[in-house]
Amino acid sequence: MISTTLSRPFIIAGPCSAETENQMVQTALALKKTGKVHLLRAGIWKPRTRPHLFEGVGEIGLQWLIKARNLTELPVCTEVAKALHVEKCLEAGVDVLWIGARTTANPFAVQEIAEALKGIDIPVLIKNPINPDLALWIGAIERLSATGITKMGGVHRGFSNAGEKYYRNRPQWQIAIDFKQMLPHLPLYCDPSHMTGKRVLIAPVAQKAMDLHYEGLMIESHENPNAAWSDADQQLTPEDLNTLLENLVLRSENPAHLSEMNELNSLRKKMDHIDEEIIHLIASRIALSKEMGKYKKDQNMTLFQPSRWHQVMENYHRMAKEVQLNPDFLTQLIKLLHDESLSVQSEILHSNKDSSFNNGDTSL
Ligand code: PEP
Ligand code: MN
Repeated sequence: MISTTLSRPFIIAGPCSAETENQMVQTALALKKTGKVHLLRAGIWKPRTRPHLFEGVGEIGLQWLIKARNLTELPVCTEVAKALHVEKCLEAGVDVLWIGARTTANPFAVQEIAEALKGIDIPVLIKNPINPDLALWIGAIERLSATGITKMGGVHRGFSNAGEKYYRNRPQWQIAIDFKQMLPHLPLYCDPSHMTGKRVLIAPVAQKAMDLHYEGLMIESHENPNAAWSDADQQLTPEDLNTLLENLVLRSENPAHLSEMNELNSLRKKMDHIDEEIIHLIASRIALSKEMGKYKKDQNMTLFQPSRWHQVMENYHRMAKEVQLNPDFLTQLIKLLHDESLSVQSEILHSNKDSSFNNGDTSL
């Protein structure tokens, strides 16, 4: 069922939570009517941040899911966070399980789920952990794989970030790109609902996921989103979901009609050449850094001079404006270069000291 051979995009949709039998069934029937949904979702046990919020209907909801499946012939999935949830889902005959972001972040819980699934090869979707830690995400997949689960998929739902206003959970796309690179055979789905937290942003984020060649989408959909008991602001009506899916532009990775010598390839060659120049320039910058480190050591100067840093950042911001580069991007790039420079100089500054000082730690 979860397979990369399916035509893109594979659509997982359904309410954030199963609330009543009627809500589950009506939503499922409306989703079925779109003809574009492959797998129905609904949370039964909800891991809520605060204890007084709706925490899911519990076991009874599994029967509603099965009823929705019988009426629509769509397979169903729900979230499991511990062995007991797994046991109840297997008893009820749920088709696919998913592990939520808070659970992926907890290796004990993932291990418990993996062990409860020993010998049962049910498909499992693994959401990224709430914190931006690729190893933790991969680790959850390894734990499931070690107990014999073979059909898995990743769900990129973004990473929590205090102070973030635009997204509910910041995408940090590069982490998902790294995930895809490390596990190229696992399908990767995007969950723009939890990523954005708001209806208006779901379509552009879903489009971006398609442009990044994700295999599919998990989107929360409710027959009456404004009345939803959880995540009301980010659920779409089945009709709006249908419109969103109709308007998705699907591009192919390697269109068959293109020859080897197409324009993109020649642009890529130029880009590779520029990257080579950048790498050589960075190496020259590091060499200069080393000389500066020696000088600072001889003159007994501090590693870091805040006034110089302030001046450098001002200069770069001015230049970013002149050449129309995104100032945030440039700031991140310069900070990365500066951090490496400090690391190299710190080693020089402490080169004759006790080795415990010579650890390259540049935290200021
Ligand atoms: C959900 O899909 O309803 C959910 C709780 O998601 P997440 O684990 O991504 O927060
Ligand atoms: Mn939700």
